[in-house]
Amino acid sequence: MDRQQLDKKHSEYTIGWICALPIELAVAREMLDEEHQDLPQSPPDDNLYRLGRIGEHNTVIVGFPAGFTGSSQAARVASQMQTTFKSIRFGLMVGIGGGVPSRRYDIRLGDVVVSQPSNGHGGIIQYDFGKTRPDGFERTGFLNSPPTALLSAVASLKANRDLEKKFLRHLSKPTRQPWFAQNAGPDVLYCANYNHDRPGTDDCRECKTEHVEQRQPREHFIVHYGTIASGNQVMRDATTRDNVSKDLGGVLCFEMEAAGLMNHFPCLVVRGICDYADSHKNKNWQPFAAGLAAAYAKEVLLLMPAAEVETGSSAVELMNQNLEFNKVLGNIPTAVEAPFNARKREHDTACLPDTRVALLKQIYEWRDGMDSPNIFWLSGLAGYGKSTVARTVAARCFKKGLSASFFFTKGGGDVGHAGMFVTSIAVQLANNVPDLKPVICDAIAKHSNIASLSLREQWGRLVLAPLSLFGTDQSTPKFLLIVDALDECTDESDVRIILQLFAELRGSHQTRLRIQHIPEVEHYDFELHGIQQSVVEHDIRVFLGHELRRISCKYFDRTNWPSEQIINRLVQNASGLFIWAATACRFISEGKQFAPDRLDSILDQGHTEGNTPEKQLNDIYSTVLEQSIPAGFSGKEKEKLRSMLKSQLGSIVTLFSPLSIQSLSNLMETRDDKVSQTLHDLHAIFDIPKEPNSALRLHHPSFRDFLLDKKRSGNAKFCVDEKQAHQSLSAHCMRLMSKSLKQDLLGIGRPGAPATEIENDRLERCLPAEVQYACLYWIQHAQKGGSQLRDDDQVHRFLKEHLLHWLEALGWMQKVSEGFHAIVSLESMISAQRCPRLSEFVHDMKRFVLYHRSAIELAPLQTYCSALVFSPAASLTLEGHSNPVWAVAFSPDGKQLASASRDRTVKLWDAGSGKALQTLEGQSDINAVVFWLDDKQSPERKWQ
Ligand SMILES: [Zn+2]
Repeated sequence: MDRQQLDKKHSEYTIGWICALPIELAVAREMLDEEHQDLPQSPPDDNLYRLGRIGEHNTVIVGFPAGFTGSSQAARVASQMQTTFKSIRFGLMVGIGGGVPSRRYDIRLGDVVVSQPSNGHGGIIQYDFGKTRPDGFERTGFLNSPPTALLSAVASLKANRDLEKKFLRHLSKPTRQPWFAQNAGPDVLYCANYNHDRPGTDDCRECKTEHVEQRQPREHFIVHYGTIASGNQVMRDATTRDNVSKDLGGVLCFEMEAAGLMNHFPCLVVRGICDYADSHKNKNWQPFAAGLAAAYAKEVLLLMPAAEVETGSSAVELMNQNLEFNKVLGNIPTAVEAPFNARKREHDTACLPDTRVALLKQIYEWRDGMDSPNIFWLSGLAGYGKSTVARTVAARCFKKGLSASFFFTKGGGDVGHAGMFVTSIAVQLANNVPDLKPVICDAIAKHSNIASLSLREQWGRLVLAPLSLFGTDQSTPKFLLIVDALDECTDESDVRIILQLFAELRGSHQTRLRIQHIPEVEHYDFELHGIQQSVVEHDIRVFLGHELRRISCKYFDRTNWPSEQIINRLVQNASGLFIWAATACRFISEGKQFAPDRLDSILDQGHTEGNTPEKQLNDIYSTVLEQSIPAGFSGKEKEKLRSMLKSQLGSIVTLFSPLSIQSLSNLMETRDDKVSQTLHDLHAIFDIPKEPNSALRLHHPSFRDFLLDKKRSGNAKFCVDEKQAHQSLSAHCMRLMSKSLKQDLLGIGRPGAPATEIENDRLERCLPAEVQYACLYWIQHAQKGGSQLRDDDQVHRFLKEHLLHWLEALGWMQKVSEGFHAIVSLESMISAQRCPRLSEFVHDMKRFVLYHRSAIELAPLQTYCSALVFSPAASLTLEGHSNPVWAVAFSPDGKQLASASRDRTVKLWDAGSGKALQTLEGQSDINAVVFWLDDKQSPERKWQ
């Protein structure tokens, strides 16, 4: 082969060709029309390159270090390549893959598979996120699809019926090499359920021919376009292969590297099929399959004019742009636990196979139907299993283009209210739909205060406007939004607004929603209680059978337990409520070897004809609570335990955001072993995590309703007075804050230290979760508890002593805005007649926070210097300033303070004593004060 040795510059290389295996690299090299000399590499780049030209394009071929495979290696190789060759426009990932034969795609060995970008993904789906990453299925967003020049080359290849001749010409060079097998052997596909007969052997000589799939022989190879599944393990099992493919909506092949590139590198993936991703391995086809993939890639390059490639952005620029986008998205507040696959929701269950079959089918048909209404509305009583259905649909649709999800949870902190609803949806849309990312980021960048605008404004700018770019015709991609438990959102007026927002989507876009409240718009209505009783009973029977068998296997392994007859009685008791069945199973399971006794106690509870499902649920909650009190205790002891239980349960269900057992005990000033002890027998009701720092959660919100509603809990024994619970929590919060808060509570020592500089560890150490909770929610608890405020009461005393400490803490937590809203609600609770001094104090405090909010959030220790100029008597007029103070700043050494006022003066103060040092008059309107250091390191003041 002729090899010209030419000198080129780094910047002349525009194409990156990536291979994982040595055979792929060897073939790629044979595709070069001329080979170039090596170039120096920028550290830490230690890749091995082959440089050369294909057609008009100077191409960098890079292989993996020997023995390395997988997506993280691909990411490393690609990013190093871009540090040395900064002008690379896009990449080609070229090599072999395992085909997925199906009725839809007749895939044979030696066929070529090409990634085809489609709605929601770039033609590549990573299918094993869940296994490899502890934080679940998070997608961090990927780059836009490959550049247009590349896509149009692919399109013209697609139309070309005469590829074979061209490919053979490209393959003429490698076929002369000794390692390139001329005859790869027969193409044999075994049935999916027949595994390789002699594990450990390299060929299928022992595999039975009767299990070979009968296929029409085919003489020519085919190029397939579609989705490629990428994962970190080799797929070696036909059943798993087919299941994963089905989950992903049908894929063409499996491979192991592309997932590492899709976040950082616009690229086209080309795979030659060398096996069927099953247990039968056959390496003979590898060189030929790699050769065909390389021939395809070469043909793509030959079709692309170099000039067109050079005009596009480089991969590095695109990557930087993407990083920039991610930074913008990271700057707006979102509810971390909102998406169905948030880490905290990891243990939430999905529907068992063979349950909810008809309902799920109906939902999927609605999703896929061309003329379906925009909204699918699933309603039903609490406990009918709506959330489980929502999770199942979300998980199933996630990989096939779920755009966003929001799962409300009462008492769940950020997911308990609608404040971050729109921003959370928008950020997910940006990350899941590449075309929306730049538009949404642009909207955020244009409105830096977007998060503080009304929900309606946010929706218009962050969701409606970006979606409207897609038009409304048939080719418009569909967006699927899943919203669960809207009824658990705290503020009813917000719920009404959200419903109106959904209504606005009608007709304008193909947006799909699933929610749980009836809107007054056209929708597909599905009422769970309308399902035939026999169908629901079947599903509950399957569930009970599955769970009880598991319990029996784990603790006593009794066959025939429980009998068919008993399961039937349980099914009847459940009255159609999945939550009843789930609670019963958890309760029985907690009994361990005594599980059968617990089962009996549930059956004793019985089922009276005419009992409503709600009554059945109340009964099982009562049974669980009663059983948690040991029978051997005396009447008095039982009474005492009951009251302890009531007070703890009352606190837990009225929390605004879940806490761990440890934090809860610190907040309530009890020992954590005491809380653990009380909750010990309540696993049926609470999700009690093993790790002491993880939050305690309710399995189902219906328990809260049961506990707080006297009518439901039936007797006064367990009924919790909600107001009282809030009052006591508010008092606990204030006590804890008084004990924990102080000036400079992180021990920083520098007044100008920015909040963003603080590591999370330090924050969590100095401001533990329960103290953060107290800071955020003490006023809300006081309000819900209906507290009557007075001058010099606990609230007034706390504020006088700790107001600044509290604001500093909120500053570190980046929650000053929340604090401001809390102050506004506090103000609404105060009557000026009853407590004039407290009223005045709160009024001043509100204005103070209003003016200094951003300073405190930027550098929380500024709270104290801002307060220096805050004189309650004159309401934000610094003594000496005749108008309110707009801005303050500390000198870098912390000794001086500058204040700028509306009176058009800037004053300099001694920060220690508060004494005025200097006044600069006649300034124009002043919005900010900044200290600059001149060369001599003496503070010189400048402002604008
Ligand atoms: Zn075999």
